[in-house]
Amino acid sequence: MYIENTSPESPQYQKDTHFGWIEVIAGPMFSGKTEELLRRFRRAEIAGLKTILFKPKMDIRYSETDIISHNKSSLPAIPVASSTEILELSEDAEVVGIDECQFFDDGIISVANQLANSGKRIILAGLDMDYKGQPFGPMPNLMAIAEYVTKVHAICRETGGPAHYSKLKANSISTDKTLNPIQLGAEDSYEAVSRKLFYTKNE
Ligand code: ADP
Ligand code: MG
Repeated sequence: MYIENTSPESPQYQKDTHFGWIEVIAGPMFSGKTEELLRRFRRAEIAGLKTILFKPKMDIRYSETDIISHNKSSLPAIPVASSTEILELSEDAEVVGIDECQFFDDGIISVANQLANSGKRIILAGLDMDYKGQPFGPMPNLMAIAEYVTKVHAICRETGGPAHYSKLKANSISTDKTLNPIQLGAEDSYEAVSRKLFYTKNE
């Protein structure tokens, strides 16, 4: 679990510092990325900080205007079509959150740096790998530039162990895999599995 650093020496503690920082929450589907993003956001709100939350416009799985986790926790979010919109809309915020970062263009890397350099705390959540086990979109670069990276895991229903991969179900009706390596409407199409199952089991 990410714990806010309250040591007086830490940049997070020094409220007058001009610079912020970047946090990334990465993992497969169902690993609790959104839950963790919302948890950090609620704590920032309790701290009285000005927050703003974004999601990609294309992700309308559960709602167009909210971020909703698989266990139905939610907060309102602004749907954006491109990373540049985030810069414009975040001017007054102290904490900026973005869910499903894997779906954004590479511009999000520079946007995250610019926001952090202007004194904001940036919290980014997204899939680290696609259903082929390949690094997903801008996520590898976002993990590289972040001060804090948290890898979360789901539970593999077969082994009961940690699940680090998002696997396309054998009976999935998912189409158009080239355009969008993790399909929306994911619960029917994908499951979280362990390394062993991802690389050895083909049904
Ligand atoms: P993510 O954003 O990483 O896809 P969410 O935060 O939306 O994940 O949802 C996490 C919740 O999903 C868990 O608290 C649990 O209720 C549910 N869940 C469903 N399948 C699994 C699984 N295989 N492993 C862990 N949690 C799961
Ligand atoms: Mg999520």
